[in-house]
Amino acid sequence: MKKLSIGVRLMLWYLAIFALGEIVFGASMWFILRDNLYDLVDDQLESQIEDVKTFLQAQSRDTSIEKLREELRETYAAEHSGDFLQVSVESGDVVYRSRFLESHQSILLPLAQIQDLRIKSRHVDGKHFRFAFEKLSMNGHAYTVQMGAPADDAVDTLKLFRSSLLTFAPVLLLVAAVVGYWMSRRALAPVDALVRTAHQISGANLNRRLQKLETGDELQRLSDTLNEMLDRIESAFLRVTQFTADASHELRTPVSLIRTEAELALRRSRGEAEYRESLRHILNEAERTTLLIEQLLELARADSGREAVDLQPVDVGTILRSLADNWCQVAAIRKVEFSSEIGDSNLSVLGDETLLRRLADILLDNAFKYTTSPGSVRLVLEQIEDRVVITVRDSGVGIAKEDQGKIFERFYRVDKSRSRSQGGTGLGLSIAQWIVLQHHGSVTVKSEPGEGATFRVELPKVSIPVPSPLPA
Ligand code: ADP
Repeated sequence: MKKLSIGVRLMLWYLAIFALGEIVFGASMWFILRDNLYDLVDDQLESQIEDVKTFLQAQSRDTSIEKLREELRETYAAEHSGDFLQVSVESGDVVYRSRFLESHQSILLPLAQIQDLRIKSRHVDGKHFRFAFEKLSMNGHAYTVQMGAPADDAVDTLKLFRSSLLTFAPVLLLVAAVVGYWMSRRALAPVDALVRTAHQISGANLNRRLQKLETGDELQRLSDTLNEMLDRIESAFLRVTQFTADASHELRTPVSLIRTEAELALRRSRGEAEYRESLRHILNEAERTTLLIEQLLELARADSGREAVDLQPVDVGTILRSLADNWCQVAAIRKVEFSSEIGDSNLSVLGDETLLRRLADILLDNAFKYTTSPGSVRLVLEQIEDRVVITVRDSGVGIAKEDQGKIFERFYRVDKSRSRSQGGTGLGLSIAQWIVLQHHGSVTVKSEPGEGATFRVELPKVSIPVPSPLPA
């Protein structure tokens, strides 16, 4: 079933609460009015009963019933207050009963039920009365007085009040419904506008933004938050499209080189040495392409968040010592001096061993790539406060200040042809930075052009001892 819109639901709630308010207000007003009107009649009734009391009090102790009947008739038959009066004596004999009560005895109460003063509503033949009943002891005699007063005026006023309420309440309710609907539409109109704009935003116009609301309330917060979210989506989208464009461009270069080399080799017949040379070039480019594709896949996996990073306590010293041995051989081939200062103490981090190896390899590979002979590369591992710090320092070409902030971007290379001639892809430092972030650490660079570069990685140290590997 289709759910009602928020506007209609708000209006229904508003109506329900309003109707409940009307019922509670109307009912309380009706009861208050009724009590007040009855009080007026009852006050009059009580003063009439007082009159009767005074009358009975005035009778002497030994007045006979006949005499009393005579007196009562004389006093009350002509008086308006005696129209609804009955006085009985202890024996149950009625000493006075007005003409109206003669013909409407059902309005009276059995004498046995009457004690202290009690006032009740009674109605007969469509007429309404308030009736007072009281047992009185006067001059050694017990009398029962039942006396009424017409309450038609009070009841008519109550009826008028009720019918006015029943007429105006639905009208008020209708007005409340219209006002409630208008108010909820007005309050929610900006949401409709946001939804309409949001519907129109797609990959083709991600630079569009939702209307900026200046209401200073939740709706403004909602539109601001959605716009901030669109900012983030747009920049992520731009990064992805830029990455795809860069990746295609980077892949096109080696592929066209391979193609050109093969076409040239096939154009005319050549000697074995020339063919070998061409094949060597083709192999070099194929290796570069393979490296590029591997790095692209690595970053794609990192972006998708599916790259499993298994953080375990690992001793960074053990990793770096085993790497340093390999890089000694590279240094010897490149005729670059290589030294390391790793120490024996256990410097453990919560990390992924494979990724940490990859990180150190990227930094050392760059250091050797951008340092020509005679030069030096130094690897240092140390503990500074509660952090494990890996430093790779070289005496190579260095990096200008304006490039230092950009070298961690994908495909950014200070000197494209130099990087290419060294087999670089422009992705190494992006991968290194991703690895460092996965380990909750940081990587920074310090350099002066022509004076080498220093890359410094800081990782949080853990104090869990890592078991040393068993001797082979
Ligand atoms: P590449 O594969 O080109 O080395 P990287 O992402 O590893 O890509 O590095 C990006 C750029 O940063 C390099 O092209 C190079 O210009 C610069 N760079 C990185 N490391 C060094 C270094 N040790 N000395 C000088 N320049 C460096």
